[in-house]
Amino acid sequence: MTNDEPNVSYPYGGVRSDSYGSAPGSYDLRPTQIEIDLSALRNNVECIRSIIGERPIVGIVKANAYGHGLIRTSQELLKCGVDQLGVAFLEEGIELRRAGIAAPILVLGGLLGSQAAHFIDYDLMITASSVFKLMQIEETAAALGKRAKVHLKIDTGLERIGIHYYNAHQLFEATLGVQHCDICGVFSHFAESHSQDPSFTRLQFERFMEALEFFPRHSLPTPTRHIANSAAVLQHPETLLDMVRVGIMLYGVRPRADLAAHLPLRPVLRLKTRVVYFKVVSKDARVGYDGTWVASENTRVVTLPVGYGDGYRRTLSNVGTVLIGGKRHPIVGNISMDQMMVSIGQCSAHNEDEAVLIGQQGSDCITCEELAATIDTSPYEILTGLAARVPRRYL
Ligand SMILES: *Cc1c(COP(=O)(O)O)cnc(C)c1O
Repeated sequence: MTNDEPNVSYPYGGVRSDSYGSAPGSYDLRPTQIEIDLSALRNNVECIRSIIGERPIVGIVKANAYGHGLIRTSQELLKCGVDQLGVAFLEEGIELRRAGIAAPILVLGGLLGSQAAHFIDYDLMITASSVFKLMQIEETAAALGKRAKVHLKIDTGLERIGIHYYNAHQLFEATLGVQHCDICGVFSHFAESHSQDPSFTRLQFERFMEALEFFPRHSLPTPTRHIANSAAVLQHPETLLDMVRVGIMLYGVRPRADLAAHLPLRPVLRLKTRVVYFKVVSKDARVGYDGTWVASENTRVVTLPVGYGDGYRRTLSNVGTVLIGGKRHPIVGNISMDQMMVSIGQCSAHNEDEAVLIGQQGSDCITCEELAATIDTSPYEILTGLAARVPRRYL
């Protein structure tokens, strides 16, 4: 079996989830689905364009395109005018190439020297985060008799990967001695551009700009500069520079719930299922594993065929809500791996009725931002936690 076939397993993320939508199979019968609204994706790219103008966009599609399905989402983003794609590591880049995607791809994460040849073979742009890594890339490219495409990574305060801003000149000087690398860009990443307090973002930006003075000082052309992520696009327009790297806002989700409320971003993803069982629970009955919820009166409870095994977080037990019949109803008892219970009080619901866990139903909408706030995590984690076993359907 080759990796070009649909429904194959990948070393990370399990079964390739974005193939379910196109390949008919047993998963198409599953009532629990993630709907991806491709028109919302286009709307969100237009929102970004309204802020950044003609600057190139690197559409970030790491972690299965934030849960939306790597290949289909990437193809659609390119159709919507996104210029390049960004992924976290090598395997994601290779998967895009094997699907026939020819656009420039930047791999944001750290490089293991032993992988450099694969980056070059698949024409992936490599993040060089130190002089040592740059030399590994150069030696590999020289040995292969090929050219490597490189972005230089400067650490301005995240302390993740990248040469420290105060040593950046060492990396810049090292590029002058390499023969087999094209320096396609130089970048840094913000630690808290989503914060209400702009001070650390400003400091990081100053450090970055100061480091970049190396180039004019030595009468060298400055490579393409990029630092802005979604939150910076939304609240730090002075940092847009030559190119932006946007992830979460492409998917219609805000890095902080109250950011840029005027901007008409639309959520792309909807997680839904159908009622699979209806019952009346008697007063004092315990519901679910460990009996963490007890009925205070006779009440109607429905069971949904979705659980934490689908990536719907178990910590939402007894605090999350679900839309059924256009109304919010509380999840009761502990969420199990594949099922959960919802109390509908005295409302009515029937088998096969639609239940929405994330997204719009009727006039109400459960957002990722809201779910994240309920359980004190980030909307990024809500999206990327959605499991590969949930079929993605593209609308
Ligand atoms: C994930 C990531 C981004 C995108 O961040 P968003 O907040 O989703 O826009 C940009 N740059 C780097 C280096 C990243 O790791």
